[in-house]
This record gives sequence, C-alpha cells and structure tokens, in this order.
Amino acid sequence: MNALKFSGPVLPDGEAKDLYVVDGRVTYEPQPGAETAARGWIVPGLVDAHCHLGLDDDGATPDADTEAQAVEDRDGGALLIRDAGSAADTRWIHERADLPRLIRAGRHIGRTRRYIRNYAHEVEAEQLAEVTAREARAGDGWVKLVGDWISREAGDLAPSFPPEAFAAAITAAHDQGAKVTAHCFGHAVLPGLIAAGIDCIEHGTGLTTDLVDAMAAREVALVPTVMQLDKFPEYAAAGAERFPAYAATMTDLHARRRETIMSAYEAGVALFAGSDGGGISRHGNLAGEVLAMAALGMPADYALGAASWSARAWLGWNATLDEGAPADFVVYPTDPLADLSVLRTPERVVLRGLVVA
Ligand SMILES: [Zn+2]
Repeated sequence: MNALKFSGPVLPDGEAKDLYVVDGRVTYEPQPGAETAARGWIVPGLVDAHCHLGLDDDGATPDADTEAQAVEDRDGGALLIRDAGSAADTRWIHERADLPRLIRAGRHIGRTRRYIRNYAHEVEAEQLAEVTAREARAGDGWVKLVGDWISREAGDLAPSFPPEAFAAAITAAHDQGAKVTAHCFGHAVLPGLIAAGIDCIEHGTGLTTDLVDAMAAREVALVPTVMQLDKFPEYAAAGAERFPAYAATMTDLHARRRETIMSAYEAGVALFAGSDGGGISRHGNLAGEVLAMAALGMPADYALGAASWSARAWLGWNATLDEGAPADFVVYPTDPLADLSVLRTPERVVLRGLVVA
C-alpha cells in the first residue's frame, strides 16, 4: 500500500512534523517515495459529542438521508460522533469505512407525550429502568434520557420523571456497562441526576454554582450545545400564548446562558462540543459550535480540544496522533488556534487512513 505524507504542525502541541499514513495508521518513520498529500495544520479527528444521525424534524430518516447527514458531518471534520439519540437503527454505519466512527446511544427515552413527536421511546416512570437497560444493551455504551420538557399540565418545563425513577434508570444502565446522559434545559431535574451518578448533561442551561461544583467533583461532563441555546427565544415565542410561564423560563435561561455555561467551565467541569446536528440543526457545522464556545469566553485551545483531543480521550479514543494511532485527522490551511474560523474550510479530511474529503 502506498504511503501518504502530510507535513506541518501537529496539534495540540503544534510541533512541525512529517506525518505518514501507512495501512490506516500514523507513523513518523520516513516512507521513501511517499507522495505529499497535503501541507498545513494537522488536528486529531474532530468529535461531535452531540449529533443525531437518522433523525430529522419528523423522526427517523431513510438510510439514504442518514448517509448524506453522515457525509456532511464527516466533510466538516467530525470523524467520531457520539449520537445523542436517534429514532432510526443506524448500526449499519459501523460497516462503512467511509463514514465517521459512531457511538450510538440508541433511541431517546422520554415520558409519554413529553418530547418531540416520533423521537423517543415514550414510557411511564415504572417502565423507565427496564427500557433504559434494554437501550443500554442495544447501544454503543451510552443511553440518552429526556431529563425535562414542557409539561402542559404545569405550563412550564418540568422533569420527565421523579428522581427515584431516574436514579433506578441510571443504575440499570450502569449495570449494563453503559453511561447515561440526559437532555436538561431547566434546573429542577439536575440535582437528582447528578446525585444519582449520571455521566453527562446535555445543554445544562439550568445549572447553578453548587451544581457545577458537584459536577466537577463527580466528573460529570457537560455538552452545552451553545448553538442550540440560541433557539430558546424561538421556543419561548412559540409557547408564549398558551404557556406564559414556560416562555418566561426559556427567556430567562437564554438570558443567563453565557454566565451558566462559563460557570461550569470555571468550576472545572469538562465541556465538549456538540453541534446538535439533526436535532433541529443542520449537519456538518461542528465548526460553528467550536466558534460559539470560544465566543462565550473559552480559550481557543480549550474550545478546539473540546471538539478534538480532549473529547477523543473522554470517549476512549486516541487523543493525539502518536506513532501507530489510527489515521483520523483533519488538515487546515492556517493555524486554527490563531483563528478558529478556518475550521469551516478543511483542506483535507483523513479517516481510517483514507483521504475522504
Ligand atoms: Zn440533540
């Protein structure tokens, strides 16, 4: 097999190297006759920690659409995707060498009629642990719970289930060797989930100072989906007439989002980048989320690490492009740490040693 050569600073340390790809792996042993495939800044394959393949506004998508979503994400540099819930069976993506590596969380698990139509397994509290155990066995090491959503009876955001039911579900998933994450917009659901040993929180706009300290101490990660939070005013407007309390809650969470997410960052909570592609947003825009995290005040190397080396380590993959690592990386024409906007225009995308874009 012909070796490929890539030259330039290799992040995160930025040391200039000649990186060769042989048989899908990285080597720094010079390969005589290797053709130079690209020069530029070389970044370990990006990670979208909150994305939905096989899902659109109406629920599950046909496989051809799902494939197009995966290609868009890949061409944007996302080579490892933690799927945050999909109504479609996307196991087949594992068989495709040209599509991103995928960590599936199975299907969302929510309360009956308390989430977006056609998205979730909709259950009542007494079924939650059993269904969570089943999804844990069917997924790739994660399950996704709908922590809170609008309650029409309450007219406001409310936890989907009582804390004891969530705690039993988290234990059931852990017993199957799976980690648990949950969609959480509001505050009320969070203390119970964190106390019960949840592994990650999605969105997290209801976090408070005491809770971010507890998350940091318990090593609970946060995927803030900053771009998604910009949609809160739309949700508030849509509910304003029938559910004024809900509209007020969403408006308040939106107004405080920078303070909330940065308080988690400052407390030492590990934050990761999630585009929420497919969950109302488009695919292939992980760059937008890194820029949004940096715009909140995170340093560029933190924001990029949250979408690359730090996230790879968190999910159990090679954090850095060491000798023998799988050749998953993205080459950029300029230094992304000097200007993150170059993340929107990758020069080359290399997945499993193949130049795919
Ligand atoms: Zn989502």
